[in-house]
Amino acid sequence: MFYRSHVLVEMTSNSLVRGAAQIKERLEREIERLGLDKEIKVLETGSLGAALPSPFVVVYPDNIVYAPVTVSDVKRIVEEHFWKGRPVGDLIFSPSERREIGVFLPYFPLTKEKRVVLRNSGQIDPTNIEEYIARDGYLALSRVLTEMTPEEVIAEVKKSGLLGRGGAGFPTGLKWEFTKNAEGVEKYIVCNADEGEPGTFKDRLILEGDPHSIIEAMAIAGYAVGAGEGYIYVRGEYPQSINHLRIAIEQAREYGLLGENILGSSFSFEVRIRKGAGAYICGEETALLESIEGKRGIPRNKPPYPAQEGLWGKPTVINNVETLANIPPIILQGADWFRSIGTPTCTGTKVFTLTGNVNNLGLIEVPMGITLRELIFEVGGGIRGGHNLKLVQTGGPSGGTMTPDLLDVPMAFDTLSRYDSALGSGALTVIDDTHCIVDVVRNFMEFFLYESCGKCTPCRVGTKRIVEILNRISEGRGEPSDLENLRYMGEHIKSTSFCGLGQAAPNPLLRSLSFFEEEFRAHLEEKRCPVDTCSMKTKTKILI
Ligand code: SF4
Repeated sequence: MFYRSHVLVEMTSNSLVRGAAQIKERLEREIERLGLDKEIKVLETGSLGAALPSPFVVVYPDNIVYAPVTVSDVKRIVEEHFWKGRPVGDLIFSPSERREIGVFLPYFPLTKEKRVVLRNSGQIDPTNIEEYIARDGYLALSRVLTEMTPEEVIAEVKKSGLLGRGGAGFPTGLKWEFTKNAEGVEKYIVCNADEGEPGTFKDRLILEGDPHSIIEAMAIAGYAVGAGEGYIYVRGEYPQSINHLRIAIEQAREYGLLGENILGSSFSFEVRIRKGAGAYICGEETALLESIEGKRGIPRNKPPYPAQEGLWGKPTVINNVETLANIPPIILQGADWFRSIGTPTCTGTKVFTLTGNVNNLGLIEVPMGITLRELIFEVGGGIRGGHNLKLVQTGGPSGGTMTPDLLDVPMAFDTLSRYDSALGSGALTVIDDTHCIVDVVRNFMEFFLYESCGKCTPCRVGTKRIVEILNRISEGRGEPSDLENLRYMGEHIKSTSFCGLGQAAPNPLLRSLSFFEEEFRAHLEEKRCPVDTCSMKTKTKILI
């Protein structure tokens, strides 16, 4: 059927808690009441990215975005825009708060934005396989099955320079090659969708907005390494991701794009979902494998690495959601195209989640190599409330701390590691100068204390002792030896912990001690908080 307009309603976890389902239902009711249901089609879609309040409604082909929309706005949008042909100016979103009638979508992609991973998010209905296919979905799978050998697929991914986006930045093609060359006929592909770092939600929005791209990429990986089965390990707290994945898997099976003899070839591949219970440690690849196998999610000894002995002891590729979402475009547009984005050593784009004291919050995809300054002050619209930037925590608490003098460092795996920082999960938490550093670090360390799986002593006990000392400092009971003890324990935990969680846990503490020692000392020696915002403020009042 031909429709004169398609109306896409944001249906993500964020928008659902703000009434998106009710907005969609009201839209459909109002459109039907005016007899427009044969002309206007209401669909669901994923996130459009940063700078856009939730929930939004996009109208095509007019290219108009209403945001944020409430249920009470719907009647006016339908009567004015769809019935009378007059877009509702005061409801159209404008980043500069100009709400005059106008076309919004030219703002997307934002000037600095480059959409590879998020190519379909906010553009298609993720629960409709035909919309994915209409945008070249499953064309890459079809191409590898009909035109490429597994070796050629791996060579193309290697040539693209794609580094794993889960945090470690390991070359994806090399990982596939190790698994292909590992002995054994039974092999697995695992998609790690267990993001748990505070401030990180990119994988959730990718899965909610474009689940078929992950399924297609897993099938391509399966063909390349010789695996017949894949698992998506996704947090139980992501019901919308799970819902969209289930629908997508069923549709792919119906269309012959999963299951036996895909597209008439000799290649068969199945994808199954495993729900995690929400432990941060299960994002660590070997703990994740334990959890899929039905055991307690604690890390294994490495080596052997999963490429040799992974799921049920078989060679296994484990790729992050964002890594996989890059695969179909690399196959379709070629490794050279992918290498033309980003930096020579860190190719492609990176999806970031901007959180904290910045004006534009949310999801953003930009070329690798963009600077923090561009991300915070151009894409992010600057620091909220006219305050000054104090620090940016890159890659979540386990990543690195960057101060204002490092704003021009390019955001890439290799450049950040030179500053003892990391891209990590892609979380960027912007913190302004109204926050006390002791409070900030204590908050991060409480997260690691809570999430420590308890397997090894340095992490289990060390994080507890660090939080105790930080609490004491914050309450005005700090001792002169505390700074030295914090440094000693931080270094000790880092060098002796069993897995990446413990090894990274002291990062925010150690970096903050080197950047903000004066502020720690003020708490210890002068019994005052220079920023006057932490619990020391209460303590000082009590003392007075
Ligand atoms: Fe568990 Fe922490 Fe040891 Fe990792 S470092 S195994 S999370 S206790």
